[in-house]
Amino acid sequence: MKQFKKKFIAISLALPFSFSVVAANNDNAAMQGNMMEMGGENSCQLSVDQIQIQTLSDEAIDRLKFMREEEKLARDVYQNLYAQTLSKVFKNISNSEQKHMDSTKIFLDAYGIDDSATSETGEVNDVGVFNNIELQALYDQLIARGSESLLEAYQVGALIEEVDIADLKEAITNTDIVELKAMYTQLLNASYNHLRAFSRQIIQLNENGIYTAQLMDQAEVDTILSGAHSSMPMGNANSLTDTESMVSNSCFTSRLNVDQQTIQNGSTINANQVMNVAYQVTVDAADVGQTADWVLVAEYAPSPNEPAQFFVRNAEQWQNWNGQLNSLPAAMMNAELKQQQSVPVFEGSLNDMPGRYSIYMGYRLNNNRLVYNKNPLLFYVNN
Ligand code: MN
Ligand code: MN
Repeated sequence: MKQFKKKFIAISLALPFSFSVVAANNDNAAMQGNMMEMGGENSCQLSVDQIQIQTLSDEAIDRLKFMREEEKLARDVYQNLYAQTLSKVFKNISNSEQKHMDSTKIFLDAYGIDDSATSETGEVNDVGVFNNIELQALYDQLIARGSESLLEAYQVGALIEEVDIADLKEAITNTDIVELKAMYTQLLNASYNHLRAFSRQIIQLNENGIYTAQLMDQAEVDTILSGAHSSMPMGNANSLTDTESMVSNSCFTSRLNVDQQTIQNGSTINANQVMNVAYQVTVDAADVGQTADWVLVAEYAPSPNEPAQFFVRNAEQWQNWNGQLNSLPAAMMNAELKQQQSVPVFEGSLNDMPGRYSIYMGYRLNNNRLVYNKNPLLFYVNN
């Protein structure tokens, strides 16, 4: 064991590594506010490479395929109703639904699942065409109803969002996969915004000036419309104090480059290959501007049968760590948190240290609250 520790430190020290955190694209709050209005998108969007492949149940696969087509249903209905009504609300929200289609597609691609929204030729189905017969029937029914009047068009929009909210909540409850939960939660928060947008239009047009829930409980809808409900955290991070552990709004996206190529999270690397590991962090708006320490932890298991050991970055070097949070050193101390940060983790090769590596990182605020990635970057080094 001690040998590994020595080697790891020696390798690390030999690297042209200087730890620095770069603020990237620290855009203003106005833009973020605008993005929220457009549909609650944040930058917790993962690329296919960043998704760590885990075991998906058949049910989870079916649900993902269904959600891909359900987002297409929303996009297609709004496109159609925009063409009929020229109401900008439909145009804006259909753009948001396109992004939701893209988000679900990224997971289908990462897991190698056939796209549920394509025809047999592999092309994405035309607007208004669905593989799922229930969604096809629903589309036809909603277009017929939405074509009756502007009020009915908005009612159709609100109904779609109610259906979406119910389905997304179920999807979130039924998966333990952190990245999938975060993706569904982004879609859910966007649906809350969309429901508010459509109901505002309905309230203006309606003689009685109210929006009546079409599927959900009226009380729940009223809470959403009042904005009093709290959006669920959209991040893929954990926020840990002495007394509680909760989901954070921060988002950690890893990048594993080998010989200058980005490879899939969870890949196996040859010992002589040069790798470059980095994280992009979108910091929870509530934490931006605060002073924090950055921490880096590598969990290393030489083989499946041997216990894992922990290494931590203490300023310029990696060292062994006993796993106790109160002795977790800082890779960099007292840094002001920007909204977007690039954090280099490791560059070089891990000759003579075959095994499994899981990389955790995070920031520790002055009140000792630790925000870190729940789902580590994973890679294996071959003999
Ligand atoms: Mn959506
Ligand atoms: Mn929507």
